[in-house]
Amino acid sequence: MTKPGQDWADPPPSVATPAVAVLSDPRFLAHEPPGFHPERPRRLDAATAGAATALASRGIVSAPVTLREASAAELARVHDPAWLEKLTRALGGVAGYLDADTYFNAATREAAWLAAGSACAMVEALRAGEVSIAALLARPPGHHATRTKAMGFCILNTVAVAAAHALSLGFRRVAVIDWDVHHGNGTQDIFYHHPGVLFVSLHESPAYPNSGYAQETGGGDAHGMTVNLPLPSGTDGGGYATAFERVVLPILTEAAPDLVLISAGYDAHVRDPLGTMLLQRRDYRWMAARLREVALASAGGRVGVVLEGGYDLGALEECVEDTLHGLIDPASARERPPLTPQSASADSAVRAVERLHQGWWRSLR
Ligand SMILES: [Zn+2]
Repeated sequence: MTKPGQDWADPPPSVATPAVAVLSDPRFLAHEPPGFHPERPRRLDAATAGAATALASRGIVSAPVTLREASAAELARVHDPAWLEKLTRALGGVAGYLDADTYFNAATREAAWLAAGSACAMVEALRAGEVSIAALLARPPGHHATRTKAMGFCILNTVAVAAAHALSLGFRRVAVIDWDVHHGNGTQDIFYHHPGVLFVSLHESPAYPNSGYAQETGGGDAHGMTVNLPLPSGTDGGGYATAFERVVLPILTEAAPDLVLISAGYDAHVRDPLGTMLLQRRDYRWMAARLREVALASAGGRVGVVLEGGYDLGALEECVEDTLHGLIDPASARERPPLTPQSASADSAVRAVERLHQGWWRSLR
């Protein structure tokens, strides 16, 4: 109903703006390397600055979600309890390394447990409808951590703890889309036989951790529920868009998840020192927008973002900002990343995945 004096040219009412929560905490900064290491505290400052810029530009105030440490029961859903005991003892040391590149210090246990527990808090806020978009900006990252191993800068598998918590709260099908430049081997390992979690990973191949081949498609009752898109070095936004349009979005639409989680690493950015892909900030905005549309179609719009890698501070800040813009306002990112000669490098990988998954997904036939 029109109020007196209302101008018809006013922008759409603010009810169209989704409730958003950005979760972060200074305790994530205290997990510090012994010397130079790409996974460093300033990454968190960059990510939170990007998120703050996105929200401020839209006049959105982050909804309050209380961060907390994960309980033993929440962690035991995805990690072996004997391993958790061993890990806790190891992290009790002053500082050191759990593998060649996974350091810890006196603050690591608290940071990792806080990341995992806050992922549960994020899922609870999404479940309750308090927010429809939430981003957990935490360190250490998590997607390489397996059921029984810390590796690749990761201690606990934060996004896996979130997905398992969602299932415990009554979500029936959780989709985890991992666009970090490295394969999310830990998340795959944890849910490889679980029919309730659809895991989709787009990553550079060959590269660390030397897994995530297209032929890894899930096992047991979960064939087709692991979808790997190993893309060659030098793939750009047009190539990622091809993978999205031909594989990721058809499968997600058919799967109709009731929660969408993004394992959001930003090391496929063209300036990242660890990856050799060519993504730009607008490409993350486009991918985020398409994933929010999937969520709007089947998940009540609910998307949870968990920060993984991304080691160029400027790129990380820009891309977190654009991810939030894409999620909040998908219509602002309709323009498909352009096809270039580099885009074609993704074609053969995409074709192979289509062939492998046609038996499980009608939308690929
Ligand atoms: Zn990575």
